[in-house]
Amino acid sequence: MSGKNISYFTPSITDDEISEVLDTLKSGWLTMGPKTIAFEEQIAEYTGAKYAVAVNSCTAALHLSLIGLGIGSGDEVITTPFTFASTGNVIVHTGAKPVFVDIQPDTYNIDPELIKEAITPKTKAIIPVHYAGQPCDIQAITEIASDYNVKVIEDAAHAIGAEYKGNKIGCFGDTTCFSFYATKNMTTGDGGAVTTNDKKLADRMRSLRLHGITKDAWKRYSDQGSWYYEIEVCGWKYNMTDIQAAIGLHQIKKLDEFCNIRREYADMYNKALSDCDGLITPRIVGDVKHVFHLYPLLLEDYDRSQFIKHMNSAGIGCSVHFIPLHLHPFYREAYGFTYGDYPVAESVYEREVSLPLYPKMPLTDVHYVIQKTLEIIKHE
Ligand SMILES: *Cc1c(COP(=O)(O)O)cnc(C)c1O
Repeated sequence: MSGKNISYFTPSITDDEISEVLDTLKSGWLTMGPKTIAFEEQIAEYTGAKYAVAVNSCTAALHLSLIGLGIGSGDEVITTPFTFASTGNVIVHTGAKPVFVDIQPDTYNIDPELIKEAITPKTKAIIPVHYAGQPCDIQAITEIASDYNVKVIEDAAHAIGAEYKGNKIGCFGDTTCFSFYATKNMTTGDGGAVTTNDKKLADRMRSLRLHGITKDAWKRYSDQGSWYYEIEVCGWKYNMTDIQAAIGLHQIKKLDEFCNIRREYADMYNKALSDCDGLITPRIVGDVKHVFHLYPLLLEDYDRSQFIKHMNSAGIGCSVHFIPLHLHPFYREAYGFTYGDYPVAESVYEREVSLPLYPKMPLTDVHYVIQKTLEIIKHE
C-alpha cells in the first residue's frame, strides 16, 4: 500500500458557497424562491438559451421535457444504451418505449447514421447524450429530427460548458437537460435544469415541476401572491430549492475555470498515455469543446477488474461509465434485450475505466495516476 489516497471525485466547494447557503438559511426562505430565479437567469445567460427551468435533478429535467413535449404511451423514443439509468428510465415512466441506437467507436456518442435506421412512424423524440462532456454531432441529429418531425431532448448531464461549432450546448435541441449532481462539472448537491428557446414549453415545464398548479409556491405565500391556486395539469414535485440555488450561484461563476482545469488534466493524461501500447485514450472529434466530465480510458487487453484492483491498492479511486442499459435486468426482462444487441457500446463498456479527474485534484496526483497507470499496464 502506498501513502496516497486519491478519491475518484471530490467536489470544489469554498467559503463562497458556504456563506451563500448560510445567507439562505438565515433569510427564512428555504424552498424555491429568489435565488432559484436568479440561478435560472444565470443558466440561461451562460448557455445562451432563452429560458432555464431549475429542477431537483437532470432526471426530472429529462422527464419534464418528455411530458412537456407530449410524449407518452404508444410512442417510441430513441436514445443511446451507453448512459446512466435516468435517460432510459424517464422514457419508460412516460409509457413510451425506449429504442436504443449504438454508439460511434471513436466518440462513444450515439451514431447519427444508425438513428435514421431506427426511426419508425411511432418515433417521437431522440435523446442524445453528450458522453463524458464531448458534444454529439448535434447538427446531424437535429437535421434528422427535422426531416422526420421528431423532437430532440439533449441529455447534457456531462456537458455544461461544452461547445459545438463555437456555440455552447444548451439550445440545439428542443430542450437541453443539465445535472448538478455532486460529481458533475458543477454542483448544487443534487439538482438540474432544463433550457429551451420555446416560451410555451418553458411555461409548461415550470408548471409541471410544481404539481401543475398555476403559481409557484413563493409567489403564493409571498406578498406578491395570494392564497389561491388551481391545478391545471397533474404535475410533479420537481422544484429546486434556494439552498441548492445558493450553491449553484457560485459554482456557475467558476464553471469555466473548472472546465479549463479538466481539459488541461485530460490533455496531460492524453499526452502521457496515448502512445502506450494497450491503451486507447479519448479522442476529440469534430469542431467541439470537450469539457471532460469523465476521462474514459480503454484497456485493450488488460483485465479491467485487475487494473482497478491495482489502482485501488496504489490508493487511486476509479470508476466505470456505463453498464449499457440494455444489459440491465429490467431492460432485458421488459423489452427482451440481450447481449450482442449493441456491440459497440458493449465492447467500449467492457474495456472502459474512468480515471480520477476534477478541478480540486492536485497536479502531483495527476502525475501519480499517470505513473501508476503506466506501471500497471507495462508490468504484464
Ligand atoms: C448523472 C446523469 C444523469 C442524471 O442526473 P441527476 O441530476 O442525478 O438526475 C442523467 N444522464 C447522465 C448521462 C448522467 O451521467
